[in-house]
Amino acid sequence: MSLGKRKGFIFQSSEIYGGLGSTWDYGPLGVELKRTVTDHWWTEVVSKREDVVGMDTAILMNPKVWEASGHVDSFQDPLVECGECRRRFRSDHVEGDTCPECGGPLSEPRMFNLMFKTFIGPLEDEGSVVYLRPETAQGIFVNFRNVQEASRQKIPFGIAQIGKAFRNEITVGNFIFRSREFQQMELEWFCHPDEADRWFEYWIQSRFDWYLNLGISRERLRLRPHEPDELAHYAKECQDVEYEFPFGWSELEGIADRGTYDLDQHLEHSGKDIRYLDPISHEKYVPAVIESSGGIDRTVLTILADAYDEDEIGGEQRMLLRFAPHIAPVQAAVFPLVKREGMPETARKIVNDLRKRAWNALYDEGGSIGRRYRRMDEVGTPFCITVDGQTSEDQTVTVRDRDTLVQERVSTGSLIEYLTERLNP
Ligand code: ATP
Repeated sequence: MSLGKRKGFIFQSSEIYGGLGSTWDYGPLGVELKRTVTDHWWTEVVSKREDVVGMDTAILMNPKVWEASGHVDSFQDPLVECGECRRRFRSDHVEGDTCPECGGPLSEPRMFNLMFKTFIGPLEDEGSVVYLRPETAQGIFVNFRNVQEASRQKIPFGIAQIGKAFRNEITVGNFIFRSREFQQMELEWFCHPDEADRWFEYWIQSRFDWYLNLGISRERLRLRPHEPDELAHYAKECQDVEYEFPFGWSELEGIADRGTYDLDQHLEHSGKDIRYLDPISHEKYVPAVIESSGGIDRTVLTILADAYDEDEIGGEQRMLLRFAPHIAPVQAAVFPLVKREGMPETARKIVNDLRKRAWNALYDEGGSIGRRYRRMDEVGTPFCITVDGQTSEDQTVTVRDRDTLVQERVSTGSLIEYLTERLNP
């Protein structure tokens, strides 16, 4: 967390006013990492596939959506309050009936709805209540027919969305793992109910591989099937992708067979026939849904936790982030060995060439080369390029690898090719 703040990955929101419970701001490097996660998801789940289309729906929706989806009645957690320090907890997050902070007695649990409420229009009365969406999925379900007809997709196909979601969580914490405002990446896959089992297995594998492709350690990732008593009432089956954080195994994403529940509910509550008509068999039916619902923020946290490392070089402690090169927020740094003999100009030219390719390249001439390497290790930059006395003689620079510490001489003309090979997964 402290490295994350010091280096501009993540700051506490409204920090100069004492912050706001569990809301976070992404700094210059954090936003790069977040964009990488977002782009990686969109590329793999949408762009590379003919059978998935994207959408971007509104955060505010007609409140009837949340009645139909079951959120108004049952999107709630059991809340207990300490009789002494008045702290509140989710009863399934505490063991026993005493306060984990002060040992005081805890109240009986009462149900607490997690949706944030606000008002639409100038009157703050019951009739003007709207909710900040607690998930992006409902925007997809209510648009099922619109999207299917407009895109002329045939079942099976998917609709994908990335967007903000809000939950008034009772217990928050573990940095950006559980916050009140977060970003989801959700895919709703519509298929014939007879085919749901097969697609469920397919998406479990596909989503698990997606995390591996970000370079996350396989031994800290696992799939965990939900126990029958953990399943949401509508879900037939669910498996979570989990990561072993320093605070234990925790959910990154849930893949669920939701059957026909969601579309059935909207069909019933809206009275609109949103069933699918198969153009070949002429069968009209409510498709089943396989959902994969993951968190961008949790993925960013996973990448940071997985990359964090400490080692020792020449008796000196080094703190570093071992990002896979293709997801590093800074791809390369360029240093002139000294601030004279044309070295800064050559180094700046290399930075410009790399930036023209939309790589995030940094120029740094401050302090000893060792200090500059250390600064780049701390933000996980995989390659550091140094322009030195030999550069003007034979047009070569040194490229130093963050992990192996090996320095290679590479000609400036083949630098782009050298980096392209190593920055692609
Ligand atoms: P939990 O049991 O941890 O509260 P959940 O099972 O209610 O989570 P889902 O409703 O399945 O979570 O949400 C899908 C995904 O959205 C989660 O896997 C997670 O990545 C992300 N997510 C949910 N709640 C939060 C939150 N408060 N902060 C950050 N990400 C979240």
